[in-house]
Amino acid sequence: MTNKEFADFLLPDVEHSWEEYEKMYPERNLASDAIVTRYAPSPTGLPHIGNLLQCFMAKRFARQSNGVFFLRIEDTDTERTVENGVSKILDVLKDFDIAFDEGMISDTDEIGSYGPYMQSKRRDIYRAYAKKLIEEDKAYPSFASKEELDEIREYQEATKQRLGYYGRWAKDRFITKEDAVKRIQDGEKYVIRMKSPGDFYKTIIVDDLIKGKMEMPENDIDEVIIKKDGLPTYHFAHAIDDHLMHTTHVIRGDEWVSSLPKHLQIFDVLGFKHVKYAHLAPLLKDDDGTKRKLSKRKDPEAGLVYYHEEGIPIEAVMIYLATITNSNFEAWFDANPNASINDFKFEFKKVGSSGGAIYDIDKLTNISKNYISRLKASDLYDRVLEWAKVYDNAFYKLLSKYKDYTTSILNIEREQKKPRKDFAKYSDVFKQVWYMYDEVFDSKELEYDFKNVTDKDEIKTILKTYIEKYYSDNDTKEEWFSKIKLLCDELGYASDMKEYKANPDKFKGNVADVSTVIRVALTTSSMTPDLYELLRLLGKERIQKRFERFY
Ligand code: GLU
Repeated sequence: MTNKEFADFLLPDVEHSWEEYEKMYPERNLASDAIVTRYAPSPTGLPHIGNLLQCFMAKRFARQSNGVFFLRIEDTDTERTVENGVSKILDVLKDFDIAFDEGMISDTDEIGSYGPYMQSKRRDIYRAYAKKLIEEDKAYPSFASKEELDEIREYQEATKQRLGYYGRWAKDRFITKEDAVKRIQDGEKYVIRMKSPGDFYKTIIVDDLIKGKMEMPENDIDEVIIKKDGLPTYHFAHAIDDHLMHTTHVIRGDEWVSSLPKHLQIFDVLGFKHVKYAHLAPLLKDDDGTKRKLSKRKDPEAGLVYYHEEGIPIEAVMIYLATITNSNFEAWFDANPNASINDFKFEFKKVGSSGGAIYDIDKLTNISKNYISRLKASDLYDRVLEWAKVYDNAFYKLLSKYKDYTTSILNIEREQKKPRKDFAKYSDVFKQVWYMYDEVFDSKELEYDFKNVTDKDEIKTILKTYIEKYYSDNDTKEEWFSKIKLLCDELGYASDMKEYKANPDKFKGNVADVSTVIRVALTTSSMTPDLYELLRLLGKERIQKRFERFY
């Protein structure tokens, strides 16, 4: 029996030959330095922040080289695949501005001419290449049952040998074609394994774009390439896909580093050109001084819904991911705060190579505060409205009802050179401006802390004198402040801080104490944005009503 006959017997249903597939996936028409890369998740769960970082990098490297970034779904492990897995992945990512040039765009549809982009739809392709290997005597059917494999493993463990189906353990290599045909005709189940040409005692060197040169032993295990169900293993499938889709760079988690000898060998045996690798270490968390892996279970910030729920601007997350990607990004961004991330040229060699980066939520919070502070009031209004629509219905109603008023509140100390940085996320907004809405103010059990002035009559006198004698809706800021000073003079508070410091006993207190009384009576809080602006927005009538609570 010839190898060809044997291959036809094992894989009779292959529709196209591997040569035909090579023709169907011609070289891409791109510049020689264009990066073609992919995100290749299995549809078994939702992407986490580490995956987002990976996508961010892949997209940037593809974009800045005028290359291609595509989404390939690796669903050969049918048991772990979840329902609507693709749309779940896409939903989470699209909010983060990760758009793919090619690939799946829903659970069923795709764009691009290098598809299908879902491995379960590429069964024939993998089988065509498996057939090639059988014809070339580089692969063989293996009948070893689970029990047999367990027995081998137990023996290897007991005798302290390397585990796996290699060397003298790889017995099925020596089954004749005729015997194999007979066993298959008798109904025996089998997988297809690749004959490893590797020698464990020789080393290969892989030059990783992030980790640098790594030396590893060659693979000598006869890996399964086609499983009993006729579908390929991930290792085999991904190599064929990256070859046919003309991937130039693989950016992925470093849990795959140990598979590199196996992967490179598959590329070699199939006669494929190698891709370049950039393996990313997992993100870390500083847990009171000890570093550990960021965990989806323990750390809410590891999941992507967290950012939506909290209302952290996507742009802030992206800026933070850029600072993790390249150590020199931050300085560049400080110098060019209005530039787009897309103007920065990322480099693989500037990705930290000494283990995982610390994922620092405080740093992200800071970036976010800066980012929000530079938004126009109307833009911030729209964003908060959109956020509240999903996550805070009561606030959404207020926002919709008082659009212009809210925009003015948000505009206090904004749109100026050094804007106020009080919101790190959209969910902070209500917590800081609730008192500006009468509906909320009037329906709440309020607690006031007037700080230095504690006497009730004194508080009443300050408020009453102020509103009756010194407040006017039409005052400029200067006029307003000089009236506050006049109020202080009349009531025995120092209007000049220097004078107060020189002679504190001469006064009941100072101008700050008086402002605090007014501020607290209006808002309950002694920490608010500019008092003059608050007063103007409230207007005399509402100020009076709030003061009357103390008469
Ligand atoms: N499907 C693999 C995963 O989900 C992808 C590995 C790769 O990018 O090659 O981790």
